[in-house]
Amino acid sequence: MSNSISTVPIAVNEPVRAYAAGSSERESLLAAYKKMYNQEPIEIPMYIGAEKVYTDNKKKLSSPHDHQKVIATYNAGEKKHIEQAIEAALKAKKAWADLPWEDRASVFLRAADLLAGPFRDKLNAATMLAQSKNVFQAEIDAACELIDFFRFNVQYMTEIYKQQPESLPGVWNRLEYRPLEGFIFALSPFNFTSIAANLSAAPAMMGNVIVWKPAETQIYSAQVLMEIFQAAGLPDGVINMVTVSGKDASDVIFKHRDFTGLHFTGSTEVFRELWKGISNNLENFRSYPRIVGETGGKDFIMVHESANAAEVATAISRGAFEFQGQKCSAASRAYIPANLWDDVKRITVEQVSSFKMGSPEDTSNFFNAVISEKAFDRIAGYIDFVKSAPDAEIIVGGNYNKSKGYFIEPTVVVTTNPKFKTMVEEIFGPVMTIYVYEPAKFEETMQLLDETSEYALTGSIFANDRYAVRLALKALENAAGNFYINDKPTGAVVGQQPFGGARGSGTNDKAGSSMNLLRWVSARTIKETLVPASDYKYPFLG
Ligand code: NAD
Repeated sequence: MSNSISTVPIAVNEPVRAYAAGSSERESLLAAYKKMYNQEPIEIPMYIGAEKVYTDNKKKLSSPHDHQKVIATYNAGEKKHIEQAIEAALKAKKAWADLPWEDRASVFLRAADLLAGPFRDKLNAATMLAQSKNVFQAEIDAACELIDFFRFNVQYMTEIYKQQPESLPGVWNRLEYRPLEGFIFALSPFNFTSIAANLSAAPAMMGNVIVWKPAETQIYSAQVLMEIFQAAGLPDGVINMVTVSGKDASDVIFKHRDFTGLHFTGSTEVFRELWKGISNNLENFRSYPRIVGETGGKDFIMVHESANAAEVATAISRGAFEFQGQKCSAASRAYIPANLWDDVKRITVEQVSSFKMGSPEDTSNFFNAVISEKAFDRIAGYIDFVKSAPDAEIIVGGNYNKSKGYFIEPTVVVTTNPKFKTMVEEIFGPVMTIYVYEPAKFEETMQLLDETSEYALTGSIFANDRYAVRLALKALENAAGNFYINDKPTGAVVGQQPFGGARGSGTNDKAGSSMNLLRWVSARTIKETLVPASDYKYPFLG
């Protein structure tokens, strides 16, 4: 037993590699990509306890930008595999929870260093290949954000443990932060490899055990994540990865007495369904489950007449279209004052028309494919709707083609109707809708913005007038959990901008902060009296 009060390495953000032309880092990443692309399709098992589980139900995975090319098969499981995963998690629980926190910290610090070093190319290339991210988008997600999640969360964990109550003379008060009693269900989306890992890793770091179901379209990089966890020494059964349908998984899990928490990122609709599933089974659980969900967005750019047109246009180009608009934080509606409109329009159209679209293997492509045929059809449906609407027009983009990959041009729509369908609904694709307003109606337009959508995830104000910034901060205080001044509303960095939104966008438990980690512990207060009383009579009785 070590008797020490340890400190952990101070977390700093992982530097983002530039992958400049001719650099060895670029060569090495592209070589990893080509190897994965050209090799025989790999077979991805489920990871349950110490077992790699294979089934007779093999399903194919392909690249969104090259959907005829099969890159892997995965083993689709059934309800019985969820039961096995729960059993494996509960079996692993005691030893993992009893381990000194330094050992848990060490596993994730090792994972961070393994990812920063030997696994970096592999995870980035997997994310490029299977989720169609360009080199830069893969680097800031799969490598940097995940390394940051691991390192900063270790630091936040110790900050939580350090929070202790006051003790008066004669008494010693303490707080213990136990893991939750039972197992956690981590249910992850396709769009961020880092989020997929963190949904399991954050509760696991706090001593919990996990049943993790990744999105089907993220299974390829999910397997690399399991390899990293194993290489870092995570004991078997702490994180169990199952490739079962979400419905089957939640059917089994939400009836289990030991289900103790849901860590979800995904769409609002699914989250609401999950919450209902949990509520319907409340009397079956040993404890009230913790429910953490980060969900959809209809993220905005609000522009004041004092803003700079080129800065606004660039925020639209980058904020709406990086990773094909498939970031929960992607800007998808903008409110532009009429005095700036001609310039904003001209520069936006110039910039967006200059994007190159294609495979991430060609690093000159800013823009790649959307994730799946289902997503392609949904987004194309919105574009068709715009084409037939009398109160909207497309000023750039509007074409799509799925013959080789799921390619949809970055599309900018202008509408005269501030409540137009694409101003209101989350599309989750490369479609930005703009409403042009009279500059004198700045405050009125912000009120309109606030009332237009059910979401409140991210948003930004562009203004050089400081009074306008202050007005926006107040008027839009409930409209976004992450608010940006003179910046695009995407690109939150762990440790710098804790992430999450309220209203329809989630429980706002701020991924990448101690607020999130606190949800995965249950505190026990201990009061110890140093010399207990030996007579019941208080002085006032005398
Ligand atoms: P999704 O809701 O379709 O899927 C998320 C997960 O839930 C997947 O693993 C999926 O298989 C599973 N699932 C789907 N239907 C289910 C059901 N009926 N029962 C149980 N499980 C089910 O989301 P997605 O398409 O993977 O990701 C995109 C969504 O995620 C967008 O709405 C986006 O805004 C949101 N998102 C939010 C954040 C955030 O931090 N707020 C971050 C990333 C993504």
